[in-house]
Amino acid sequence: MNEARRESVRSGAASAPRILIAEDEPDLAVLLSYNLEAEGYVVDSVGRGDEAELRLAESPPDLVILDWMLPGVSGLEICRRLRARENTRMLPVIMVSARGAEAERVRGLLVGADDYIVKPFSVPELLARVRALLRRTRPERIADRLSAGDFNLDRETRCVRRGDRDIHLAPTEFRLLEFLLEKPGRVFTRNQLLDDIWGRAAEIDDRTVDVHIGRLRKKLSKGRERDPIRTVRSVGYAFDETYGKQ
Ligand code: CA
Repeated sequence: MNEARRESVRSGAASAPRILIAEDEPDLAVLLSYNLEAEGYVVDSVGRGDEAELRLAESPPDLVILDWMLPGVSGLEICRRLRARENTRMLPVIMVSARGAEAERVRGLLVGADDYIVKPFSVPELLARVRALLRRTRPERIADRLSAGDFNLDRETRCVRRGDRDIHLAPTEFRLLEFLLEKPGRVFTRNQLLDDIWGRAAEIDDRTVDVHIGRLRKKLSKGRERDPIRTVRSVGYAFDETYGKQ
């Protein structure tokens, strides 16, 4: 595993798409992890169905690669349960299986998998399907650029501009803006921001979020420029969806 690269993905973009691999063949799991990380995804891998359920309940990733036959709980059953729960109903799932018969592919799709791929498969094909599925279901997660009103954020160059003005942000401020800009108008609680930007394990409190939002605001709006971040009292923050539309 390329640790340096993995680290750069994590510190570089908190919102690099996260993928959970549930696969009990260790060689295949390692091969997939390695290749997905090389593509810039943040990857978590488990070898049992019950472990996969725990991870999915803790914090749903952006996409799951789910082996049909898993010890503990089968991939098929996990998929069915994901579809039954409100917060994971739309979670992108690619089912992988050695079962290639038409009836079984259909069964996989009927329980709610978005795509179905038969083992053995080529890694480039799986990577292409992952990207296609994310493009369809989570376009904001893989876009190279995010924009709203006169704000433009470039993930590749890490540049933020407001109109013609370059805005220099510290890494945490950049990640906060990136996160808010993925869904203009959506209100995020302080806890959501803490989890997604600092990580669940970080020992910091809600006020840290307020402090960083305060700094971000100062840099985003100079003089009489309108403040694009909306505070929703006793809830959290949003990037104002009406921004730039008036
Ligand atoms: Ca298996």
